[in-house]
Amino acid sequence: MKALIDELAAKKRLSREDWVSLIAGRSAGDERYAAGLAREISEGLFGKRVFFRGIIEFTNYCKNDCLYCGLRRSACGTARYRLGQDEILSCCREGYALGYRTFVLQGGEDPFFTDERLCRIVRGVKALFPDTAVTLSVGERSRDSYQRLFDAGADRYLLRHETASKEHYEKLHPAEMSFANRMRCLQELRDIGYQTGCGMMVGSPFQTAENLAQDMEFICGFRPQMIGIGPFRPHHDTPFRDRPDGSSALTIFLMSLCRIMQPRVLLPATTALDCGADDGRTKAILAGANVIMPNLSPTGIRKNYLLYDGKPGLGQDAAASLASLRAQVEAIGYEMVVGRGDYKA
Ligand code: SAH
Ligand code: SF4
Repeated sequence: MKALIDELAAKKRLSREDWVSLIAGRSAGDERYAAGLAREISEGLFGKRVFFRGIIEFTNYCKNDCLYCGLRRSACGTARYRLGQDEILSCCREGYALGYRTFVLQGGEDPFFTDERLCRIVRGVKALFPDTAVTLSVGERSRDSYQRLFDAGADRYLLRHETASKEHYEKLHPAEMSFANRMRCLQELRDIGYQTGCGMMVGSPFQTAENLAQDMEFICGFRPQMIGIGPFRPHHDTPFRDRPDGSSALTIFLMSLCRIMQPRVLLPATTALDCGADDGRTKAILAGANVIMPNLSPTGIRKNYLLYDGKPGLGQDAAASLASLRAQVEAIGYEMVVGRGDYKA
């Protein structure tokens, strides 16, 4: 399989068949080989440095019912909350003092946050902290809404495509949600001018090697500025509660292949990698990841923002979350850099 990894490095693309054989036929040696190559590429471009972004989980209300997610509207055990503008700004103030220069505002699809309310929040953050970037991760909205939020100052948008197969998408979502709409959103975000992030869960129910090959082909064609890939983890209050965890090793392998395919991409070591382990994120950094997203949410609400079970850092406050990740990053010889960390073509 090393020959295929070399071919990817040279041509920046592979055929569907080759993706499938690489994904399904990989050995631990192939994983190490890809990680080494990816690490060389990221160190060559970024040095031993990772960007850190503060994630503020500002609402866990969601009108959607994605079958995998602990925030789905049918998850009755989830106590719902939303943060007010002042609370969000105070998270940013605390984050700014800690060195954050990107704030990621993430939440369920909560109709309370109309364009007007969300634009006011984005403008509020940018007015107080003009040298920061604002990333939104609030799901599917209309083109007009994305445009307004962009005009209010939002810089980036994370919207994982979740799976690039329409058939697979339909097994993970209720009939009222559509693959076509997800794709429409991603295209529009890019067209408007956001630095756009797509990505998928690895090991989600019904996923095949062919599906992951489709994901890699989609990423290859879409050329996102950011790619968020994390393992699927079951949540006890969802129909997928008894499904097994996605593989961290496969997740990290695919991240390495993304780095090899799109050398400059912003590639976070996702939190789900540290579920049940505490070295998943650092392994990912050593395999090509260059972004880490510590939690900036108020401590009291963290236990209610559970996309999956076993999320780490629930009892920590913002300073402790950053300090523990910083220590881990420094222990592997990397440093966290203060700065917006924009995508550079
Ligand atoms: N509502 C927004 C943002 C919050 S969900 C949206 O859906 O885009 C953010 C991401 O969490 C999703 O894109 C999904 O990939 C991930 N996620 C949700 N449930 C998960 C689970 N059970 N295991 C792993 N990742 C999950
Ligand atoms: Fe809502 Fe996002 Fe969870 Fe789907 S993945 S239920 S849209 S929070």
